[in-house]
Amino acid sequence: MLRARAAVEMLQEYHPPLAGRVALRFDFNENVHGCSPRVLARLASLTAEDLTRYPERAPVEAMVASFLGLAGEQVLLTNGVDEAIHLLCETYLEPGDEALVVVPSFSMYAICAAATGARVTTIPAADFRFPLRLLLANLTSRTKMIAIANPNNPTGALADAKDLLELASCAPQAALLVDEAYYEFCGQTVIQETARRTNLFVARTFSKAYGLAGLRIGILAGPPKQIRMVRRVSSPYNVNQVALMCLPDALSDQEYVTWYAEEVKRSRTLLEQELRLLHVPYWASHANFVLARLGDRKDLFVQRMRKRGILVRDRSSDPGCEGCVRITVGTTKQTADLLSDMRSVLDEIGAEQELPA
Ligand SMILES: *Cc1c(COP(=O)(O)O)cnc(C)c1O
Repeated sequence: MLRARAAVEMLQEYHPPLAGRVALRFDFNENVHGCSPRVLARLASLTAEDLTRYPERAPVEAMVASFLGLAGEQVLLTNGVDEAIHLLCETYLEPGDEALVVVPSFSMYAICAAATGARVTTIPAADFRFPLRLLLANLTSRTKMIAIANPNNPTGALADAKDLLELASCAPQAALLVDEAYYEFCGQTVIQETARRTNLFVARTFSKAYGLAGLRIGILAGPPKQIRMVRRVSSPYNVNQVALMCLPDALSDQEYVTWYAEEVKRSRTLLEQELRLLHVPYWASHANFVLARLGDRKDLFVQRMRKRGILVRDRSSDPGCEGCVRITVGTTKQTADLLSDMRSVLDEIGAEQELPA
């Protein structure tokens, strides 16, 4: 009888709640406004001829590298950051190796690492602060991969660049991935350091600020010698032709990306102010979402917001996130609706809770 590898049989399917998302989508940290109009114009111009070709990644890769101020040999385009994570695990991990992931964080790190047969050690972030000491204390000669989202998802916390670089220096035997999926909303990066380090990788995505989650495009930057290794594992056609054709247009419209990131930052401040006024605990965020603790009111909050056409994400099963929801923010106009519905819902469920059981 055909059996999957033992490591795969142990995995659970990752099945995000994507069905029926017709409302204001504040549940997946996507751009909720739309991409640059230049991308839509490019899509409208596609011809049958464009689609008959196998996609050619190299010229677009060179363009992206130059945009980032990196050498072409340092950059690999991927089918979203998800694929970059997968490729790194396939390149560096084998059964018996160890991978370190901070929790709570993005779930794909642990899934891809475990699928290789490596042992995944979860490092708790107390108070959601970057657990540098604990990471260092858990390094062994078998540690081959460390994955850090910065800013972190779902907490919005930001680690200091100097702590990340210290970790890279202390673990030369491990690939250190710094996942900068939310870079545009915070502006802090270690991407330039990938040229000077032997084991540091940085991932970026077009799924968040750029509004292209549906196209599936990500960037993996790293030391040339190591990017060459990762390329060996990658399909040459991993990024589709439509995505490759749109990418230069998306990058060229920095005015749009800057506008959207500024809108998000204003929205984030408004949401944080409102949560303070409503006495809802939250964590200061450097990304396009805020994690808030609703406690006992969490289920009702999620349901009532959904009834009003606003989706927020229940993150209460993440370690340390009991009673928490993650709320994505978009434009200030959308945030006005979010805040007014949030006020009403908290009013309703606050009042209901005071009734005797
Ligand atoms: C959303 C998210 C991603 C997903 O990126 P894709 O490019 O869409 O695969 C990666 N990392 C983190 C931390 C995220 O929150």
